[in-house]
Amino acid sequence: MLKTSKEIDIILDKISKIYPDAKTELNYSTDFQFFIAVVLSAQNTDKQVNKVTERLFKIIKEPKDILWISQLEMEKFVWSINYYKHKAKFIRLSGEKLYQEFDSQIPDDLAKLITLPWVGIKTAKVLLSVLYDKPFVAVDTHVHRVCNRIWIVTTKAPEETDKKLEKILNYKQKMKMHHITVLFGRYICQAKKPLCENCSIKDLCNYNVQKGKSL
Ligand code: SF4
Repeated sequence: MLKTSKEIDIILDKISKIYPDAKTELNYSTDFQFFIAVVLSAQNTDKQVNKVTERLFKIIKEPKDILWISQLEMEKFVWSINYYKHKAKFIRLSGEKLYQEFDSQIPDDLAKLITLPWVGIKTAKVLLSVLYDKPFVAVDTHVHRVCNRIWIVTTKAPEETDKKLEKILNYKQKMKMHHITVLFGRYICQAKKPLCENCSIKDLCNYNVQKGKSL
């Protein structure tokens, strides 16, 4: 049976206790820098991204700063990142669009955000959650895995999980879930070797039931 809303509250409370100050692990000091870091982070670790942005963010702070940087220069900064050529291009195009159409501000609206190059639903939700404190859960592989292991949802792909969570979570749960679940999936409920023995929600987890084992 899928978890009830009350059980989801208990689970989120327990995970919150592990990460009372949960926040993004990407380094940034302006909204546009956060935007760049999020784009670079697809298929890369936050650690890899922070290494690259340490140099890049010395010269790029706001969208206008990108107008003076060529594609080649941008690629030189981000070459160690997966899909760096595409990402360099999309970051430059997004910077131009933000400068020309959005007064250099990252929009606080999902429909507007997804008009920016590279920005899909997941990226838009990360931006809205972190920059504007809005009730969105960006479903990455960690959130998808954790939610399925504990049977908050039973889905096959992150996109499906995203749609289900939109329906079943209430405002408070959405506000709470994003960062703590990413960190929980990254460091405890890991893909290959989840640390089940010491997990504080193991009594509420269905993972080993699915595998036919007891905890
Ligand atoms: S018991 Fe294991 S599989 Fe379940 S949530 Fe905890 S770490 Fe993940």
